Amino acid sequence: MAEISSFNPFFAQTLIHWYERNKRELPWRETKDPYKIWISEIILQQTRVDQGLPYYHRFIQTFPNVKALALAEEKNVLSVWQGLGYYSRARNLQQGAKQVVYDYKGKFPTSFEGWLNIKGVGSYTAAAVASFCFLEKVPVLDGNVFRVLSRLFGITEDIAQAKNRKIFWDKAMELIPADQPDLFNQAMMEFGALQCVPKSPDCERCIFKTHCFAYQKRLVAELPVKIKKLVRRSRFFQYHVYVYKEQVLMRRRSKGDIWEGLLEFPLAEKEKLEALERKPKPVTASSFLFQSDVLKHVLSHQDLYSRFYVFQVKTKSDWNTLIQKHDAEVVSLADLDETPKPVLLTKFLNAYFYPYFSIHK
Ligand code: SF4
Repeated sequence: MAEISSFNPFFAQTLIHWYERNKRELPWRETKDPYKIWISEIILQQTRVDQGLPYYHRFIQTFPNVKALALAEEKNVLSVWQGLGYYSRARNLQQGAKQVVYDYKGKFPTSFEGWLNIKGVGSYTAAAVASFCFLEKVPVLDGNVFRVLSRLFGITEDIAQAKNRKIFWDKAMELIPADQPDLFNQAMMEFGALQCVPKSPDCERCIFKTHCFAYQKRLVAELPVKIKKLVRRSRFFQYHVYVYKEQVLMRRRSKGDIWEGLLEFPLAEKEKLEALERKPKPVTASSFLFQSDVLKHVLSHQDLYSRFYVFQVKTKSDWNTLIQKHDAEVVSLADLDETPKPVLLTKFLNAYFYPYFSIHK
């Protein structure tokens, strides 16, 4: 195996050369606009490139610059974000935009440290914007880059542990050329995304195979080391959907739980799956219309099992009682589709609710 020390000086140039020939054409690679890079990086934390692209275009079209985002109504920001999940990230984006507009007079920070002060920006995004737009020599450490560094240089420390981050950071710092941190970082990320992929990379055709620690030692499948401590939780939601004159009742989810600030139907959370079977007794004299099957919806750390019971409310006074009891908002059926809400509700609406009421979406 070739010496790593003799490999380092050529590493960056070889990698950048590979990048120039293999990179995907993506809109945020055609720009040095910190706003666009920032938006793209936050979206890409949520989803893969191909799935994130339409969200990126829609976001930039709706909020073309930082001022437009800062001045937008929060519900419009959430609506554009709908489907990406982790709505707190969309909220933080807008808070960050307000910071730039109101605290920094519309001027973006130009350094890694400066970007870390922006709401919702962690070291990954700060490094991406600082190196891509302002050519600061800082490494962008995403999952792809951890994997490439671990395999190439035989770094065996657990990448899931924050304390090991410095080892990867220092290694990347050694490799970044001072005059091309932007290309180097993009190349590392792309190399991990296209060549040094998590499962069964095509090492035979890799430009680094004669130098790669993992390949030479037959440890490709073992690296990087990532020890998972994921505790999954199951939750059981019984939703009560009240309909009255082309309207439904919805309530805003509170802080400190999933879907903060989104609208959903009145909810009774249960302890067990079986409890979803018992039809709820409505508070007022409403007539029962139909119920959904139990829908399973998987989040990063939670499995949600939900059943929706739909009732027709009979009188205005019953309707008002329900509004008060649930501290609810009234949403017209025409606005339901555009209302910022969890994906789970969209699934229910499309599969059960719209067909029942013959609403065509
Ligand atoms: S040889 Fe294989 S493991 Fe090593 S860098 Fe190339 S693709 Fe990744």
